[in-house]
Amino acid sequence: MEHFDIAICGYGPVGSTLAGLMGKLGHKVLVVEKNIGPSPTARAINTDGEQLRTFDRLGIAEKVVENSAEIQRVHFGDANLKPIQTIEQPVGVSAMGWPNQVLFYQPELEGFIRTSVESENNILIKEGTELLSFEDTSEGVYLNCKNSGRDLTFFSKYLIGCDGASSFVRRELDVDLEDFEYNQEWLVCDAHLTEKINIPEKEAMQVCDPKRPGTYVPGRRGHLRFEFKKMPGEDSKELEEDENVWKLLKPWINENNAKLERAQVYSFHACIAETWRKGNVLIAGDAAHQMPPFMGAGMGTGIRDITNISWKLDLLLKNKASKEILDTYQKERHSHAKWTIAQTVTIGQVIEGFCAAAEGKEYEPKGPSYDVNFPHIPSGIYSDPTDMITGVPIPQPVLTKNNKKEMLDRIIDETFAVLTQQSNLDLTDKAKAIVDLLDIKLITVDPREDSEERLKTVFEKYKAVLVRPDKYTYGGVEDISSLSKMIESLEKEFSLKT
Ligand SMILES: Cc1cc2nc3c(=O)[nH]c(=O)nc-3n(C[C@H](O)[C@H](O)[C@H](O)COP(=O)(O)OP(=O)(O)OC[C@H]3O[C@@H](n4cnc5c(N)ncnc54)[C@H](O)[C@@H]3O)c2cc1C
Repeated sequence: MEHFDIAICGYGPVGSTLAGLMGKLGHKVLVVEKNIGPSPTARAINTDGEQLRTFDRLGIAEKVVENSAEIQRVHFGDANLKPIQTIEQPVGVSAMGWPNQVLFYQPELEGFIRTSVESENNILIKEGTELLSFEDTSEGVYLNCKNSGRDLTFFSKYLIGCDGASSFVRRELDVDLEDFEYNQEWLVCDAHLTEKINIPEKEAMQVCDPKRPGTYVPGRRGHLRFEFKKMPGEDSKELEEDENVWKLLKPWINENNAKLERAQVYSFHACIAETWRKGNVLIAGDAAHQMPPFMGAGMGTGIRDITNISWKLDLLLKNKASKEILDTYQKERHSHAKWTIAQTVTIGQVIEGFCAAAEGKEYEPKGPSYDVNFPHIPSGIYSDPTDMITGVPIPQPVLTKNNKKEMLDRIIDETFAVLTQQSNLDLTDKAKAIVDLLDIKLITVDPREDSEERLKTVFEKYKAVLVRPDKYTYGGVEDISSLSKMIESLEKEFSLKT
């Protein structure tokens, strides 16, 4: 029986990205996927600067951006597609070092991720292989799979279920879902322009038509995404018929200028798993949370999950931390994911609210208003998160060092890093031992190297900041003599084996 460090169930965008991260960290990885080939149709279409930082670690961020579109504004519009309210979207490179938000085509994105993953010879991909059962023991997990009628058994120190909304792994762990009671069915259509027409290319719209709420999103190279709410009494199969679909698409496109890729009714749910880990088995991505797609954040939430867990698994597998480090995964990610779900539900309510207003009913939004800023991770940090620096991704400048321009993430690479403008750091022996254990990079930043001044506010507040391998700021110190104390605190926070 072949042994692995990490087994991943599911080769969707979340499982494949995790495989790439763990493979590049040098671990022996197994992926089991019941289907063959990337998802043939798009579901996710939108990604952000933070996720692009993760994709950059797989060497594909530039490719993703080159093959994406950006939108400048999102409208809430009426039944005649006239904007009622507009949200301006920042375009161009953001403080993340990448565009704030880009629209990709999922089969293409999955192809980029897979090419990167499959270039690593320590990752075994078993497609057409279904995980049928597993047994968790104190040493690791035994996996029983089936491939074309053949039984296959593997052993892995850890199993991560990235197996989507109806996750087999989550069900086997007997984990309950907290349900936000948001259950709607929407017809999702993808079309491609066959000729250039006059249609908004950089503006998306949530159509607040009480007779049929909908969504229009222009993707890259003529890819168009439409979503239409299934109304009471409608039959899914009938709604999916080409004739009906073209009727719905009429305000934008027709059969002479576009071709239909697919139209399918999806059930949108909002829920979150109550437990993200049992023993050596964890869940991530849609297996751990689901949300309606109004904010385009489902996949992104999963990419954040695996960016968080990958470096912790790495420390564990390298025997630098004890198993308790895995407890920090749910603590850090659960409330963030729950907040994201609440935001997407709120957008759904805003659409419903505008629809009600169009019918002359009173509009009373429930819950908090739409806010595009993600909140801090609530633990795994050192300083005060209200500083807007701690617990969020560190801004990414392109630093000019020795006449060479280099993105901060590529200098930090896969480790912790101290960023400071001071060159003499007088560390305690204990702090030095932790620096050695974790290979913490000590990076001196001269303000002249940061020409866009992306780290300016960071250094106005702190003499030094400590950045985690997921590029979240662990904390900062206002007095450089406190740096050792901050480094030493990593021992308890992440159960280090010092
Ligand atoms: C209409 C729509 C629009 C969306 N738009 C966006 C968007 O713009 N941005 C965004 O971020 N998100 C969006 N999402 C959400 C996004 O698509 C999902 O969050 C994302 O695909 C989840 O990825 P995943 O890898 O966790 O799961 P999946 O993509 O579902 O992959 C799970 C994989 O596990 C495999 N699997 C399952 N069980 C087993 C088993 N027992 N053995 C082996 N393999 C197994 C499956 O075959 C599958 O390949 C949208 C979703 C929908 C429906």
